[in-house]
Amino acid sequence: MSTPKHPGVLSKKKKGRLGANRWLLLRRSCQALTLALFACGPLTGFWIIKGNLAASRLFDTVPLADPFILLQSLATGTIAASTAIIGALIIAGFYMLVGGRAYCSWVCPVNILTDGAAWLRLRLDIREGLQLDRTLRYWGMVLVLVVTAITGILAWELINPVTLLHRGLFFGLGLAWTIPVAIFCFDLFMSKRGWCGHLCPVGGFYSLLGLVSLIRVRAEGRDRCSNCLDCYAVCPEPQVISPALKGKDGRGPVITEANCTNCGRCIDVCAEGVFSFGSRF
Ligand code: SF4
Ligand code: SF4
Repeated sequence: MSTPKHPGVLSKKKKGRLGANRWLLLRRSCQALTLALFACGPLTGFWIIKGNLAASRLFDTVPLADPFILLQSLATGTIAASTAIIGALIIAGFYMLVGGRAYCSWVCPVNILTDGAAWLRLRLDIREGLQLDRTLRYWGMVLVLVVTAITGILAWELINPVTLLHRGLFFGLGLAWTIPVAIFCFDLFMSKRGWCGHLCPVGGFYSLLGLVSLIRVRAEGRDRCSNCLDCYAVCPEPQVISPALKGKDGRGPVITEANCTNCGRCIDVCAEGVFSFGSRF
């Protein structure tokens, strides 16, 4: 059975436009708020957070650091400063609580691009494309660390689309605009959810934090499922849904797969109210 071209129509009828897009709107607000917090200091002189997604300080006191960048830094043989380690532990602990890949869907600016490409792909009914292996992101992550260790520089950070886009939104992209455009076109024309869902090493790293995360999506109302497939159509990682929804091999209703991004889109589009956020227990 193929996924529907206009998922969420029934949900909109039942819950209204706002109710059927609640988590999407909250996510976009969170992504915008993250950018606004970083922009606030340079624009107004009132510094809530100083730095960028790689490393920053909250109220000039609490250090925050991307644990994947810390790992790359360690791979170069550099002894990291204690503030960087504390900052990385804070961020890692946070995502272990809320879901590792919540970083991808609630914070990362690239997600706005790739969600846009996925939406357009659905509307244009582009179904063919490259079938990539979803484990490529883990090989990519290993490759990043190996290249970093060999070269002794944070090579990935020179081309990391997350860093480039975040920096570019404040200081201009220059020629780096080609990278986000290439990702958008790749996702739209060549591979469904190709970048975030298959290739991005950052997503691969954060998914590992999600292995133990507390906050999970639950398919508690799975008995009500009408098999409309709307959730599969909008989910950036549709392979995570079936085990919990169908109870395969006696599985419980909790989506425990590390690559669920906790985006909440399945909750939005399901007219039967099958899904909700909850804990893994
Ligand atoms: S859980 Fe079932 S009813 Fe709900 S969107 Fe998915 S397929 Fe449709
Ligand atoms: S299962 Fe739901 S919350 Fe998880 S990635 Fe898919 S749509 Fe998002």
